[in-house]
Amino acid sequence: MLRTSLLLPLLLFACIFLGSRPPGVDPARLLLKDVNLIDGTGAAAKPHMDLLIENGVIVAIGKNLSGDNASIVTLTGKTIMPALISAHVHVGTLNGTTASAEHYTKPNILRQLKLYQDYGVLQLLVMGTDRPLLFENGFYDSSLNGSLPGARYHSAGFGFAAPGGTPPPVNGMDRVNRPANAEQARRQVDTLAGLHVKTIKMWVDNLGSTTPRLQPEVCRALIDAAHRNGMLAAAHLFYREDARRLVADRLDIIAHSIRDQEVDDALLRDMKARNIIYIPTLALDKFAYSYGDTPPWLNDPFFKQSLEPGTHDMISAPAYRQQMKTSPAYQRSKTAHQVALKNVYRIHKAGILVALGTDSGASAIRAQGFSEHLELELLVEAGLTPLEAITAGTLNAARALRVDRQYGTLEKGKVADLLILYSDPSFSVANTRNIAAVYKAGREVSKGPFAGADVTASGLLQPLYTLPLRSVFFYCRSVASYVDTTVIFRRRLHF
Ligand SMILES: [Zn+2]
Repeated sequence: MLRTSLLLPLLLFACIFLGSRPPGVDPARLLLKDVNLIDGTGAAAKPHMDLLIENGVIVAIGKNLSGDNASIVTLTGKTIMPALISAHVHVGTLNGTTASAEHYTKPNILRQLKLYQDYGVLQLLVMGTDRPLLFENGFYDSSLNGSLPGARYHSAGFGFAAPGGTPPPVNGMDRVNRPANAEQARRQVDTLAGLHVKTIKMWVDNLGSTTPRLQPEVCRALIDAAHRNGMLAAAHLFYREDARRLVADRLDIIAHSIRDQEVDDALLRDMKARNIIYIPTLALDKFAYSYGDTPPWLNDPFFKQSLEPGTHDMISAPAYRQQMKTSPAYQRSKTAHQVALKNVYRIHKAGILVALGTDSGASAIRAQGFSEHLELELLVEAGLTPLEAITAGTLNAARALRVDRQYGTLEKGKVADLLILYSDPSFSVANTRNIAAVYKAGREVSKGPFAGADVTASGLLQPLYTLPLRSVFFYCRSVASYVDTTVIFRRRLHF
């Protein structure tokens, strides 16, 4: 009797633990078979490739690899690419339709890291809006080393701005340093270095001479102190002449587009000579005017799923549209966006590193996750090829975060942070939205933003997102986005 009573639990145990995994399979080994590979280096997609992953790291790439003892996932017809990296975002301060210091809590941060992960973005550089909470009890280091769920968090700590200058101390910006002089600026940078922050962020903008500007000698002190501590210095800027001065003062990262004038050859030469990293955040200016009209993505489930509660109602309201369209910012942002598109193309063609960043999360209209995919499309609209745009969002962004030895490409020795897509984005970059799965360090962590979600208010479209109809839907959308890209390409020829 005793034997029988022990046998049942043992059998159950065997079914649960052995049944899910065939005997002899090593859980640390994974073979992804027969996939179309975009490696992030800019090389053309390679069809029918296998990737062998061990303990989260790619150990072999080739055709017909043997998967002895490995779990095997066959991906025929699908495409694989490195996970996206966004080198200019804001996390934690946004909740609903408002951004504020009160929202900056660990649960809100973790919720947003998960959202980025669902959209295939696995590393983020938060540009200067962090707060002390981030650095308490190992929270920041745990995210960096991947042990917290969601995207990995890189922080530029508490940013630097002029006293009384932009950004104003509202919308969660009240912890920004406002050094009165160069000496104070240096001491504040030293404090950040003690928090394992690798990049500092300064706001160099006077919003059309309406606010005090960060003084040039303070900017120089910030850059020097950052370099003395082995950190990079990034600047929010708008004007070409600020870019020229800051590049001469050895700035490392231009964190928004130059948007008042087109770049000239002398500036391009300086940027190239000094290895500047350029993060155009094209999505920011696009969002700044798009809701004065009805943007094509307004009712796209992929967009709506990324929004904070209340945001879709806000941007769909006729009163909001009217207010946007009559605001002085409407035409200014529209013009600035056109200048930004021209500048990023020339900067890219001059051989300067362009890295993806979006400013997502700074306000409700800068949707986290969706912005990163829109940015890829805008880079293509500017004139980059889809593969060049993907490199901006993978390898180049990894370089901006200085993690490119481990991340940013799918090559032997790199961490297996990757996206599995239903369709190939080298034909139409919008296909990065057709996410089948997201892998973080060789482990599936998401099936994209729609997994388990009701994608419309009514839920009527829900069956389209369940297999096998889901694939048909993505195919139709791929064809539609191919047509879009062709139109954009034709438009480019008329420049
Ligand atoms: Zn920003």
